[in-house]
Amino acid sequence: MRYCLFLTVLLLLQAGIHAQTKKTGKAIICLTYDDGLQSHLSTVLPQLDSAGLKATFFLNAIQGSSEAIGEASPAVAAWTRAAGNGHELANHTLFHACPERLGWQKAFAIESYTVEKIITEIKTENTLLSLLDPKRKARAFAFPCNNFLIGSTDYSDLIRKQNLVTYGRIGGDRKSIITQFGNINSMKMPSWMVEEGTTLAELIAFAEKVRDSNGMGIYQFHGIGAEFFKISKETHSAFLNYLKEHQDVYWVTTFSDALDLITSK
Ligand SMILES: [Zn+2]
Repeated sequence: MRYCLFLTVLLLLQAGIHAQTKKTGKAIICLTYDDGLQSHLSTVLPQLDSAGLKATFFLNAIQGSSEAIGEASPAVAAWTRAAGNGHELANHTLFHACPERLGWQKAFAIESYTVEKIITEIKTENTLLSLLDPKRKARAFAFPCNNFLIGSTDYSDLIRKQNLVTYGRIGGDRKSIITQFGNINSMKMPSWMVEEGTTLAELIAFAEKVRDSNGMGIYQFHGIGAEFFKISKETHSAFLNYLKEHQDVYWVTTFSDALDLITSK
């Protein structure tokens, strides 16, 4: 009896593990970029577009003005174009409040927030995103600094139940590969927060682990050739070329497209 139960659980787990490969026949790779950085506009989008790959950008504030009188904001123009080109613009709150222990000033840290305040920010960011990208009606979300707590309140379920966002991304490391597709929390999808100076070989090694486990891997990038947690432009470009050349084994797609597929029956 106990053995039967064990076998049933094993079979159910295997069914979950292989659910996505039946649907795509490929391992799933999501490239995600946080904080709406200048290098995303100047480097990442041109590199993605020339490789023909689609990605997800978790945006907080968007610079709505130009330094030259009479010119449109370069950021507004570029993000609008990115959405038109099939990239996903997603919600990363408005002011990106993080825990004090990560160096945030007390007045702006998440500890000084109420749930109502974070909800107002998420709604406001949704409105901003809808102006840049009116076609997309549902938004994915990434927790600032990968933190989903305000005090002891986990607000992940709350924002989904209020239909503010559809799916959520949290943090993780190089071991954060999703394989148990039948048993995911789609508001807390783990990702590898790519560290400063990560090499091409390391980026590829993570993809290969995803491939070997028939899983899903989410890269969480920040600066590319500039800003913080940066990797070089050359490394990023070479990694995109690697993914492009191996599209027979990788389905490189946006975070929401991947989650739509995984959560579909
Ligand atoms: Zn961020």
